Amino acid sequence: MTIAFIGLGNMGAPMARNLLKAGRKLVVYDLSTDAVADLVSAGAQAAESVGHAASLAQTAVITMLPAGTHVRTVYLGEDGVLARATRGVPLIDSSTIDPATAREVSAAAQGQGNPMADAPVSGGTGGAQAGTLTFMVGAEAGLFDTIRPILAEMGRNIAHCGGAGNGQVAKLCNNMLLGISMIGVSEAMALGVSLGMDPKALAEVINTSSGRCWSSDTYNPWPGVMDNVPAARGYTGGFGTPLMLKDLGLATEAARQAGQPVHLGALAQQLYQWFAANGHAAEDFSAIVKLYEQG
Ligand code: NAD
Repeated sequence: MTIAFIGLGNMGAPMARNLLKAGRKLVVYDLSTDAVADLVSAGAQAAESVGHAASLAQTAVITMLPAGTHVRTVYLGEDGVLARATRGVPLIDSSTIDPATAREVSAAAQGQGNPMADAPVSGGTGGAQAGTLTFMVGAEAGLFDTIRPILAEMGRNIAHCGGAGNGQVAKLCNNMLLGISMIGVSEAMALGVSLGMDPKALAEVINTSSGRCWSSDTYNPWPGVMDNVPAARGYTGGFGTPLMLKDLGLATEAARQAGQPVHLGALAQQLYQWFAANGHAAEDFSAIVKLYEQG
C-alpha cells in the first residue's frame, strides 16, 4: 500500500525518510530532482509529476510545501492531486498555510470524495529528523483516526484540533504567542541587565516565577544564559527569522479576515518585519533580542 509524499525540503525529506524507516512504501515528488534522488537512494520510488505521484497513492497523499500558493497549485492544478488521486484516498497537507486556503482545498477534496486533513507541525527540522514532531490536525473524527497511525510514524504528539482548517488555526495561534513571548522575554532580560542584574540570575528567578515561559526556560535569547540554544552559537540554526515572520503574517492576516484584534501579534509581526529587513533574515528568531542592544 503506497503513500505519495510531495515536497521534500528541509522538513518533508526527513519526514518521508521516517515513513520509509517505518516500512512504508513511498512514491515521492519534488520540483528539485536532487531532493527526489536522495529519497530514491533511501528506498522510495520517484514520480514524474504531482499528478503521477497522486495517482499511485493507495494509503494517503502527504504534502509538505512552502506556502498556501504552492498548496493551491499542487492540489487544484491541472495535473494536481485532486485531478489524479483515487477517490477515497485520504489527503494530508502538513504545510503551514492560512486556515481559509486549508478549508477551501479541503472542501474541494471532500466534494470529490477524498477526505482531507490539514496537519501542520511544530518541532522544526530536528523534530522532523528525530520523528518527534507535534502534528496539529484539522479533520473529521473518522479521518483523524485513519491518519493518526501514519502521523505517529513521523511525530510524537498528534493533536486533534477539530474540523478542517483547525490544525492551521492552532499552529498560527501558538506561533503568534511564541513570537510575542520571545520579544517579551528579550525586553525583560534587557531591562534587568541594564538595571544591573546578572542575566543568568535573572533568568533563574523568572524561570521559577510567574514570568516563566518556553522562550525564557528552554530557548532563552540572552547570550550566556543557556547552552545548546541559538543564543549560545551566534543565533545560527534553530527557527529562522523569516519563518517566524511568515507565521506572524498568517496570524495577522487571519485576524484581519475574522475582524479579531491582535494588538501584540501585529506589533510582533512589524518588529520581525523590521528586523528581517535590517540584516537579520539569516538569524534564528531569538536574535530579536538585538532590538534591545544599547549604544
Ligand atoms: P522548504 O522550502 O525547505 O521545502 C519545500 C519543498 O517544496 C521544496 O523542496 C520545494 O521544491 C517543494 N515544492 C514547492 N513547490 C512544489 C510543487 N509545485 N511541486 C512539488 N514540490 C514543490 O520548506 P520546509 O522548511 O520544508 O517547510 C515546509 C513547510 O513546513 C512550510 O510551510 C513551513 O512553514 C513549515 N514548517 C517549517 C519548519 C522548519 O523549521 N523548516 C518548522 C515547522 C513548519
